[in-house]
Amino acid sequence: MLVLRDPAALRRWRCSLPPGVRLGFVPTMGNLHEGHIALVRAAQQVSDTVVVSIFVNPLQFNDAADLARYPRTEAADLVALNTAGVDAVFLPSVEQLLPPAGAAVRIDPGALAAPWEGALRPGHFAGMATIVAKLLNVVAPGVAVFGQKDFQQLAIVRAMVQSLDFPVELIGCPTERADDGLALSSRNRFLTEQERAVAPLLYRQLNAAAAALSAGQPTESVIAQAQAALSAAGFVVDYFALCDQSTLAPTTSLDHSVLLTAARLGAVRLLDNLLL
Ligand code: AMP
Repeated sequence: MLVLRDPAALRRWRCSLPPGVRLGFVPTMGNLHEGHIALVRAAQQVSDTVVVSIFVNPLQFNDAADLARYPRTEAADLVALNTAGVDAVFLPSVEQLLPPAGAAVRIDPGALAAPWEGALRPGHFAGMATIVAKLLNVVAPGVAVFGQKDFQQLAIVRAMVQSLDFPVELIGCPTERADDGLALSSRNRFLTEQERAVAPLLYRQLNAAAAALSAGQPTESVIAQAQAALSAAGFVVDYFALCDQSTLAPTTSLDHSVLLTAARLGAVRLLDNLLL
């Protein structure tokens, strides 16, 4: 497995691949878990060569403390990627990848970035989209794989690729979960033992809400019930909403919809969603 830190070296390697090779790309922020490895496997299924990037993107953190404590586990990540049969890992430094200060051009992530995570984390999606655009330009993959766990992120990346004609196919992968249903996330390690025991309730409430909606119960009361159950268990719910999968606008229709939620448990913010 090649480990490349310099964007110029990555480009040279990219150019050395035989013409016609389909390159698969999985962008990550490291601290890899089975969710990331599932993306690698999906990329391997649809491409000839797979490159994974590890870059903790300062532009998408709006809280310096959150950025500082984000887990960095490079040695273990490289072992996991090597075991998974990845061909190359791209590990640029912050200085190498950030747009030049002062004259930097940033991606405007558009209307899909306004609600939900975008409303609570100003600048988060602009920072994410800017770095994803840079990574796509440096890596030039034929196909890039993202997780549906970050549903709004995937929707914005799709919109960016379509709006700006990036020559890449996008694949969204289902969320990998622990046996009790908790979506795998690099932030789960910050849950206390007690919080970890409560955390699967988020996914249970998504399923309960989906069942109640399918049974014809009114959206407003289903959402209120879910929020009340989560609050009673100690969550601080940022949002729990039924949205259209394409526009992310709130809806009461089950057609082409998704339940999106974010809730805090102690110091940890958990994100999850369920496609209906
Ligand atoms: P991150 O390293 O958290 O920025 O995530 C990198 C990629 O992995 C993103 O496309 C995420 O959506 C995806 N991802 C994170 N957690 C999971 C999971 N539990 N299941 C599937 N994909 C995931």
